[in-house]
Amino acid sequence: MKSFSVKAFGTAAGKNPLAPLTINRREAGPTDVEMEILYCGVCHSDIHQARSEWPGTVYPCVPGHEIVGRVTKVGNKVTQFKVGDTSAVGCMVDSCRTCNHCQSGLEQYCLNYATFTYNSPDKHLGGHTWGGYSSHIVVDESFALKVPAGLDLAATAPLLCAGITTYSPLKHWKVTAGKKVGIVGLGGLGHMGVKFARAFGAHVVLFTTSANKVGDGLRLGAHEVVLSTDPEAMAKHTGSFDFILDCVSALHDINAYMNLIKLDGTLTLVGVPEKPLAVSAFSLILPRKNLAGSCIGGIAETQEMLNFCAEHKIVSEIELIPIQKINEAWERMLKQDIKYRFVIDVASLKN
Ligand code: NAP
Ligand code: ZN
Ligand code: ZN
Repeated sequence: MKSFSVKAFGTAAGKNPLAPLTINRREAGPTDVEMEILYCGVCHSDIHQARSEWPGTVYPCVPGHEIVGRVTKVGNKVTQFKVGDTSAVGCMVDSCRTCNHCQSGLEQYCLNYATFTYNSPDKHLGGHTWGGYSSHIVVDESFALKVPAGLDLAATAPLLCAGITTYSPLKHWKVTAGKKVGIVGLGGLGHMGVKFARAFGAHVVLFTTSANKVGDGLRLGAHEVVLSTDPEAMAKHTGSFDFILDCVSALHDINAYMNLIKLDGTLTLVGVPEKPLAVSAFSLILPRKNLAGSCIGGIAETQEMLNFCAEHKIVSEIELIPIQKINEAWERMLKQDIKYRFVIDVASLKN
């Protein structure tokens, strides 16, 4: 299969800093869309994966799955995109498309494993997939998203992961008006969770460990902000939540949040810390509660979320960086110094 080389940033091993490298992309096939990448959001999963905090990292690793770009080429069977369109790619670039889960629009749970945007086996070129810290990507049109008009493109990029990962569980667990909903951690995912929960009409409480994020939490849509380091402030909410979405990237005490859930309420984990979280059975059984998890969202739901964002004028709060600042940005994320998503201006790859 024919391919072409493109500029990228990635890491050759473990904790090495990210550095420039060259990767190959396949020439667009009949159903493929080739995109010039304009912006790519920086997800904490990029750090977990590139640094082998999660199992199975293949090197060199080129992260990035919050991609917004412009279509530069389409295959002769492509019907949904034309050259010049604004398009997007999230966390997946393919799946089997035939299993029950794929047929139900849950490609992220494909029974034959979705092809993730990076670090998955590449069905076309062999080797593994490369993410959006790169100048171009080629994807089957079924896995490309349309960016509705009117959205700021750089601030839209984080919707492709942080957006859908919070939108999907809030919808699945029926967060609506009259529900009391907690969002834990004001980072990339958390700040989108706050915005969506508010837009869905819930009473929104943000939990943060960072005293300097209280004002922003309220500005972004929380009705209340609780410093989770203050046991008295936490105790006031005991047994009162219908739903809590935990967006924390590191080890923390989830029992403190389970205690705040009411009868038959649910705590859903979307954060994926490197090490297992300890669960006290007591925090689950009294009264009866659910502990759950959720992974991104399917392609149709991702498009639904983008359309919802255009309608409700929701985008991410971002700090735009040239790719040369990516290592600094990662260090800041690890210090919880994030307001509230870094987005790479991919044009800087040419520098
Ligand atoms: P992020 O922007 O770095 O935000 C993480 C937030 O967690 C921080 O801002 C901080 O919020 C809180 N936090 C960090 N360290 C903490 C600690 N030691 N104790 C308590 N709170 C801490 O990360 P992100 O990009 O939103 O990603 C969050 C997690 O979700 C990551 O593990 C990521 O891999 C995972 N993720 C999962 C999915 C999925 O499909 N399930 C998709 C994308 C990402 P405060 O400062 O407010 O306390
Ligand atoms: Zn992500
Ligand atoms: Zn499948």
